Amino acid sequence: MMLELAPEDVAFRLNARDWLKANVPAAPAPHEGHPSREYALEWLARLHASGWSGLAWPADYGGQGLSPTRMILWYEEYVRARAPSALDCTFVALNHAGPTLIACGTERQKTFHLPRILEGRSIWCQGFSEPGAGSDLASLKTTGRVDGDHIVVNGQKIWSSFAHIADYQELLIRTEPGSARNKGLSWVICDMTLPGITIRPICNMAGVSHFAEVFYDDVRIPLSEIVGGLHNGWNTAMTTLGIERRTAAMTLQLELSVKIEELIDLARPAPGTAAAEILSDLRAEAAAVRAMTYRTALREPATPFDGSLVRLSYAELAQRIHRTAVDILGAGALAEGPWVHDYLESYSETIAGGTAEIQRNIIAERILGLPREARA
Ligand SMILES: Cc1cc2nc3c(=O)[nH]c(=O)nc-3n(C[C@H](O)[C@H](O)[C@H](O)COP(=O)(O)OP(=O)(O)OC[C@H]3O[C@@H](n4cnc5c(N)ncnc54)[C@H](O)[C@@H]3O)c2cc1C
Repeated sequence: MMLELAPEDVAFRLNARDWLKANVPAAPAPHEGHPSREYALEWLARLHASGWSGLAWPADYGGQGLSPTRMILWYEEYVRARAPSALDCTFVALNHAGPTLIACGTERQKTFHLPRILEGRSIWCQGFSEPGAGSDLASLKTTGRVDGDHIVVNGQKIWSSFAHIADYQELLIRTEPGSARNKGLSWVICDMTLPGITIRPICNMAGVSHFAEVFYDDVRIPLSEIVGGLHNGWNTAMTTLGIERRTAAMTLQLELSVKIEELIDLARPAPGTAAAEILSDLRAEAAAVRAMTYRTALREPATPFDGSLVRLSYAELAQRIHRTAVDILGAGALAEGPWVHDYLESYSETIAGGTAEIQRNIIAERILGLPREARA
């Protein structure tokens, strides 16, 4: 699928290319912890100072209000320039929290938080999943008891990415006593420095602590921090997740084409060999994921479930590319840049943001119209 570009779009692309060439940091991003926070905030502040932050946000809220075509052009240049991953610790703030506040927040919440997010002054994390509520988010149990003008939170979240270096959390809790499933929930802005919060980082098999368990022990949060209304959290959460599924992972999807070219350059397989065949298949699949990404981003009106098709295709292909890299490069993969690290990290692609099985369920039920799976 080719993009149809007006001369102004081409000028935009060249401007983005020049800026990125002059500004992408030479040093790679640290993998974790406070150094990764400082690096990401500094990069976002630099993007903001030159008018490149909040690309999809409306101009009224300090964003650039870019069209989907311009977003694609920006991200194509972004991955080509090997700019810092857009899925770093600023991701939740820019792609979930900010857009959710724009859609559902109060004026006070917007005025306080939106500039801090855009200018690279605050990190957010997401506190949705619990040990017994991941794919089945509606079964979450963390409670928020209303007490005067506060809610008192008790319970536990898990897999909260960047919680240990975040300033705020988008926290989904059960505020209506006796409620079940998606009723009686609230989406709350949780200040991560509040008394009663304990954060325990979890180390993944790549040896990196991206995410954490978070425990809440009588944490008092003002009612004014609820977003979208008391007991109306499911609707707010669906806004958050809807934003993510459409475009948020665009850089990762476009990056696959860059990665496969890098692998071909490194492996240099002789024509006609099995390795050459595998790599050319992967190159074609990466082009297909790129085309699906364009189509999903450009389709008007947006079709909400197309995001699952792209997400699933991307996730499974990313795993295949990294496994192939390790197979083909063999022990050399250890010496050749980030392949082994990225291979280990790629296992999470079919879990984070909705597992491959859940994406398949969505595609089957919502796109193909197959019978719905039996619900408990
Ligand atoms: C890298 C990473 C980052 C994450 N970041 C965050 C974050 O910032 N905030 C946050 O809240 N969460 C985060 N998560 C959690 C993520 O959303 C959950 O891991 C995911 O939703 C799956 O939930 P679960 O781990 O509880 O697995 P479960 O839901 O228990 O699933 C276990 C297995 O059962 C399968 N399964 C479950 N239900 C069905 C079904 N109906 N049909 C078929 N198969 C099914 C699943 O596909 C999976 O294979 C992150 C996860 C990862 C890996």
